[in-house]
Amino acid sequence: MGERIILHCDLNNFFASVSLLFNPTLVSLPVAVCGDRENRHGIILAKNETAKRFGVKTAETIYEAKKKCPELVTLPPLMEKYREYSKKAHCIYERYTDMIEPFGIDECWLDVTGSTLLFGSGEEIADRIRKDIKRELGITVSVGVSFNKTFAKLGSDMKKPDAVTVITRQNFREKVWPLPASVLLFAGRKTSEKLRSCGVYTVGDVANCSDSTLTRLLGKNGIELKRRAEGLDFSPVITPSAEDKPKSIGRSVTGAEDFTDAGMVWSTFLTLARSVSDSLRGHNLFASGVQVHIRTASLSVKEFSKTYREATNSGYIIAKRGIELLNQNYNFSEPLRSVGIRAIGLRESGAVQEDVFGNSEKQAAQEKIEDSVYLLRKKFGKSSITRASEKKQ
Ligand SMILES: [Mg+2]
Repeated sequence: MGERIILHCDLNNFFASVSLLFNPTLVSLPVAVCGDRENRHGIILAKNETAKRFGVKTAETIYEAKKKCPELVTLPPLMEKYREYSKKAHCIYERYTDMIEPFGIDECWLDVTGSTLLFGSGEEIADRIRKDIKRELGITVSVGVSFNKTFAKLGSDMKKPDAVTVITRQNFREKVWPLPASVLLFAGRKTSEKLRSCGVYTVGDVANCSDSTLTRLLGKNGIELKRRAEGLDFSPVITPSAEDKPKSIGRSVTGAEDFTDAGMVWSTFLTLARSVSDSLRGHNLFASGVQVHIRTASLSVKEFSKTYREATNSGYIIAKRGIELLNQNYNFSEPLRSVGIRAIGLRESGAVQEDVFGNSEKQAAQEKIEDSVYLLRKKFGKSSITRASEKKQ
């Protein structure tokens, strides 16, 4: 088969753009989507172009942002709407190919190699997608077109909003090689520092660096990086299949010392459930049940589970349900060697029923706070926000 044609579609300022669809009178103002707006230490999750021009940055506090831009309008995140619009964009992509690999809520790779007879060149398909998204959803997308995933992704970042960038075998040295080496890295700062210390600043420098130097600096990853810089990224666009949706998501741990009371288990459950919760969010799933798994010091194993009226993706709520379940079923007659918590009864939406049951509102608020934290950690890496209670492990 000949050259592959890969698109990378990145919805521009996704959260801010979708939020503005539901607040149309604010479109011309500087606007940011923020977690915990009542608190001036609340954090900027996303901003529109106008706010960007004032220098407002993602992950800074509302207080810092307002120093630069006193008129900044803050909006709460609308997670349900973001999921809905992400799905709608996906449906548009599906008109052009069924080979689609999502990357986060607002990005997808598309392999359109087999679609050119029907729809034209890669650039033409990208342009159709750009127009469809704008006309039908009222938001914009930047599309990178190239012969591999790495360059397609770099392309989508070069011109925005509402633009198409084509990176070919002929022009990639000119377009991609001047970019800082860090754009190739998912790993981040430490690695780029190592590279800089050896005079490797740009993507071109990586491509021209000797194998031995890169291996010495970064091990096996060094060669992988160089291949990507040279345009030798052959990784396929992988469409997640329905079978990839998990039936349950669990985490367990053997303690450094035995657990002698529920207090010790609680902080561990929080950590484990946070990881379960990230995984649920990654799959767009909610858990309607919780299962607790324990192994005693004498190695006997017990399991308890319960289902609830309201499904949740909150780590805190899952941990809380877990500890209640443990307290109802186990009295620590013997210390525990290991504990685990599992989200079961997974489904695609949380059942947030109106105030009849009282708890829903609190639960929704908890889920929203965690949504914000989750989004930031996805963007800036695991360590950017860690709750004090998690630091123990
Ligand atoms: Mg985006």
